[in-house]
Amino acid sequence: MTSSPLPHASSLPGFGVTGFAREDGAAARTLSTEQVANLRSVVDLLAGKRLAVLTGAGLSTDSGIPDYRGPNSVPRNPMTYQQFVGDDALRRRYWARNHVGWHHLRRADPNSGHRALAQMEQRGLLAGLITQNVDRLHSMAGSTNVVDLHGTYDRVVCLGCRSSFSRQEVAGLLERLNPGYLERTGNAGDVAPDADADVDDTSDFTIAPCPVCGGMLKPDFVYFGENVPKDRVARAYAMVDDSGALLVAGSSLTVMSGLRFVRHAAKQQKPVVIINRGQTRGDEFASLKLELGVSEALAYLAEALPGLEREDAGRSPH
Ligand SMILES: [Zn+2]
Repeated sequence: MTSSPLPHASSLPGFGVTGFAREDGAAARTLSTEQVANLRSVVDLLAGKRLAVLTGAGLSTDSGIPDYRGPNSVPRNPMTYQQFVGDDALRRRYWARNHVGWHHLRRADPNSGHRALAQMEQRGLLAGLITQNVDRLHSMAGSTNVVDLHGTYDRVVCLGCRSSFSRQEVAGLLERLNPGYLERTGNAGDVAPDADADVDDTSDFTIAPCPVCGGMLKPDFVYFGENVPKDRVARAYAMVDDSGALLVAGSSLTVMSGLRFVRHAAKQQKPVVIINRGQTRGDEFASLKLELGVSEALAYLAEALPGLEREDAGRSPH
């Protein structure tokens, strides 16, 4: 199958992939001849196949959200579910840091990688998008068929009565209980993908109880030590089942919650392409592995992958 015409590698500086020129960070980057050749191999492998896509923290680094598992990141140990529910001081510390981190995260914008995946969905190239990120940037970019595998940072759940609240509403409660806290802590230096800001003094922070039952509130995403809800896992498996290939972008696949979809696709003999800086736990299952910035790579693929016209024509009624 032939793919759509592409600029020759030698014409790269002027090359018109949308997204490159829009981002300050990406504008300065160019793809090398070798990188373009590698991306061409990906296009050849994936052309004509409906894709399931799995994304991780590496995709949001160009939106200013650090990837704490990336090759240049500071190791970090996120709180476990057991610590959160079992230790008052740790929970207070968690909410204080989340209060500051949330205000940072909500200012993040989607980057060219998120936009590229939204375009691919609009072109009918995707069976679905599974993300390990809780930052909502795929939805903000316009993707609609998304499984937020680990939940989202903008919802809060009560562990007592299971009422669900917007994070915005809880921010108002926390603000009233902790007047001036955000101003005192200033700009957090480092904010992790789960809205955990680097704030040290959290001893005087007051946690908001559930407005309905007074119970314990928890950001509604999956903590370490907690399982992804079964229906969500089933939806994600169904996307892989409906696909002709799996594309992994910006995930080191460190946790089983993501790695299992790679194993699932490999077991079905479907090609698996991994684009990630640094090693991943899924490398042994990959048909192709590219060590490349994910937003540049996805912007390239969104332009270069041909449509699925033949299959669509076969399905049309006339
Ligand atoms: Zn409640």
